[in-house]
Amino acid sequence: MSRLVIVSNRVPVPTPGTPPAGGLAVALSGAMKARGGLWFGWSGGKLEPGVEEQPEPEITTIDGVTYAVIDLAQRDLDEYYAGFSNRMLWPLFHYRMELTEFTRVTLSGYHRVNRLFAQKLAPLIRPDDIIWVHDYHLIPLAAELRAMGLRNRMGFFLHIPFPPPDILTVLPNHADVVRSLAAYDVVGFQTPIDLENFETYVRRERVGRRLPDGRFVAHGRAVTVEAFPVGIETQIFADVAAASGRNALVRRTRESLGDRRLIIGVDRLDYSKGIAQRIQAFETFLLLDPEWRGRCAYIQITPKSREEVPEYAAMEREVAELAGRVNGAFSELDWTPLRYVNRTVGRNALAGLYRHAAVGLVTPLRDGMNLVAKEYVAAQDPEDPGVLLLSRFAGAACELDGALLTNPYDVDGTAGALARALDMSLEERRERWSGMFEKLKTHDVAWWCQSFLAALEQPDEPSQTRRIA
Ligand code: ADP
Repeated sequence: MSRLVIVSNRVPVPTPGTPPAGGLAVALSGAMKARGGLWFGWSGGKLEPGVEEQPEPEITTIDGVTYAVIDLAQRDLDEYYAGFSNRMLWPLFHYRMELTEFTRVTLSGYHRVNRLFAQKLAPLIRPDDIIWVHDYHLIPLAAELRAMGLRNRMGFFLHIPFPPPDILTVLPNHADVVRSLAAYDVVGFQTPIDLENFETYVRRERVGRRLPDGRFVAHGRAVTVEAFPVGIETQIFADVAAASGRNALVRRTRESLGDRRLIIGVDRLDYSKGIAQRIQAFETFLLLDPEWRGRCAYIQITPKSREEVPEYAAMEREVAELAGRVNGAFSELDWTPLRYVNRTVGRNALAGLYRHAAVGLVTPLRDGMNLVAKEYVAAQDPEDPGVLLLSRFAGAACELDGALLTNPYDVDGTAGALARALDMSLEERRERWSGMFEKLKTHDVAWWCQSFLAALEQPDEPSQTRRIA
């Protein structure tokens, strides 16, 4: 088996005393342990100001996996990370053209850091390694590595949505982005919708076509392009949730709720998550269904995120104001309708809170997948499962057909769906839940990782791979 090299913007190097990494990191580390592996990327640290020469990667081997990380200069972080990745690609790929900011300076920083990654990574690569690159920060990496002469199998997985062509073409360098994708052998998207958007782009912009074997040929290379919906550690999450009765935070929270029904939302504070619209929907629900006042409580757990990006500060104010307005209008001396909490919660407590919640509110305006939706389902008690109220614009909606689907832009509709979720019969809840849970058990994160790697390892015919016009 070839060695597996993973490249991502951040590298979750395990450190003693910090909580274990999430399911994705566990699955990827597992795949690397099985075959030998190297994980390359940014350390999370900054170069001292004034350092001219980029130092060599810091290399450590922990538990069978080698981690090679580099620090980045402040200017690189401003331009590549906060700039082009998070103020252009992130909003645009989440269909939010009005939030984008394109500048030649940040674009050039994006390419400079991708070239730096390639320069520092290339000497560590062996000829038969397979290379798996993750996410929007690193789209041009394969093209950079190929320009340096590397001929390894290379795959790319996009964790966020791939937008329709009318949106993608807002990006002045959209043609380069798609050309960069064609430098990979496998490109993975989250859902069939993303795949369809890619296919439409390729056709409309006349940069390629589908081959009879299903691959795409674009810019003279044949590329396998498929949807590989990312999963979670379903069984582990279910087991943790079932055992969560012993967790002190879960116990205290349950006691504080008494017999009130819990509605839960768990998201990073990001404008893609639709938190403001969700709070408005809850407000409308309290207005239209006054019998629920005092009989339910909505806990929204929302750690702050990307505070260096200005759009996030504006949204933080808006959400905090809304939360205050709802509580001001509806609170009683002995009842607070909304508990808005800006902090992270450990996985065990989170699993227990999901399990206790009658409704999981997962209503992003647009999301590549949304793992919270899957975690909520995995955590439910099979005898008395809660209802997942899910945005039709979350990638997870393509798989979770037992969820109550909603359009988060339709605040009144979401408010109505919330009332319907709270009123749903046990029979309907069980029926909706069991199909979703079965799917999540087979399509877990290990399955996702294996499917992608199987595609990446397919040795294709050299005559088909190269030189196709
Ligand atoms: P995104 O990757 O955009 O943040 P996802 O829903 O796909 O969204 O993944 C978020 C992950 O972060 C989930 O595994 C979720 O459990 C975790 N998470 C989100 N909010 C919190 C929180 N407040 N405390 C702890 N974990 C959280």
